[in-house]
Amino acid sequence: MDLVDLFDQYKEQSLHGRYITLDEIEPLLKTLNTNNELKIIGKSVLDKPIYLYQIGSGNTKILLWSQMHGNESTTTKGLFDFINLLNSNSALAQNFLKTFTFYCIPMLNPDGAKLYTRVNANEIDLNRDSQDLTQPESKILRAQFESIQPNFCYNLHDQRTIFGVADTGKPATMSFLAPSYNEEREVNETRLKAINLIAGINAVLQGYIPNQVGRFDDSFNINCIGDTFQYMGVPTVLFEAGHFQGDYLREETRKYVFVSLVTSFTIISENDIVDSKIDNYLSISQNKVVFYDFIFKNIKINYDGIEIITNFAAQYKEELIDGQICFNAYIVKIGELDGFFGHFEYDAQGANYKDDLNNIPNLNQKADFHLENNIKFVDGLMSN
Ligand SMILES: [Zn+2]
Repeated sequence: MDLVDLFDQYKEQSLHGRYITLDEIEPLLKTLNTNNELKIIGKSVLDKPIYLYQIGSGNTKILLWSQMHGNESTTTKGLFDFINLLNSNSALAQNFLKTFTFYCIPMLNPDGAKLYTRVNANEIDLNRDSQDLTQPESKILRAQFESIQPNFCYNLHDQRTIFGVADTGKPATMSFLAPSYNEEREVNETRLKAINLIAGINAVLQGYIPNQVGRFDDSFNINCIGDTFQYMGVPTVLFEAGHFQGDYLREETRKYVFVSLVTSFTIISENDIVDSKIDNYLSISQNKVVFYDFIFKNIKINYDGIEIITNFAAQYKEELIDGQICFNAYIVKIGELDGFFGHFEYDAQGANYKDDLNNIPNLNQKADFHLENNIKFVDGLMSN
């Protein structure tokens, strides 16, 4: 079975791009609520509903939550694509629904989603609040965890474009982690299940996005939700949806979230997580901060009367302006860029740098400039 073909069949067409809020998912959830699958499990700081969509009648209970960080919407899209599959009446769906009961919280942080922020409306990172439980959203997730008593947890996130797969120059399109449950980062039976699951997902993903799968750093932090749930004895997998070449809207990456979900439930339903796959897991290359959105090399600038050749890097800021996410490129690093890659790279071959300010690239300045050979860059990109 080609899982990308399957994705094309069940893709939720009403969700698109990066700005996914309650306004987009609420009508969808209501449409999907054909048999009392939907309930409100609590309210956010700004009194917005937090929904749980429960489907399936199997003994293996799966708890999934997305958009704990409000501006991380790719896994929400992938989750709805997967829910469409579950509602399809196909043989695969029937098998999943009789094996599993899925408890999906598609948007744990609706306020952050609206504001397009990582944090909630009290500016708290919910993924650092799993011990103190100071926020309503954290309490809601914990209460669900305790009442459902899941067999597996899926902690669904997005990661920034800065992450690559080790030093390969490939972006980390999907990254995973079986979080640690102690400082020593030991492997017990619980964590081993998460490890084996990720090893199995990776084996399939490599067929779709070769060398674009990363393994996240496993430093232990009990304030992170995945570490807490793993510590509490439930195998927990962290998904980080990342960058695919040219795909800032993450419509390509979304496919691989779907592929990963389907693969993981196939593995669990076939009970294929018994033998240790630690070596396979550890052979997944580590995530590394090696990317900028833009790198401009060999730019000539006149610095205090001296001509020098230098490089600079720019990074998109995703800014919410009039209800839309705008990708605005700002200069973030000037000078030595050895070991770094750009999703877009340009070699100026010593051409003179000019801009409308003082003809020197400065930190935090928009990446709008031109070169002496009349090549103009607007917002980091070449323009005519
Ligand atoms: Zn996140």
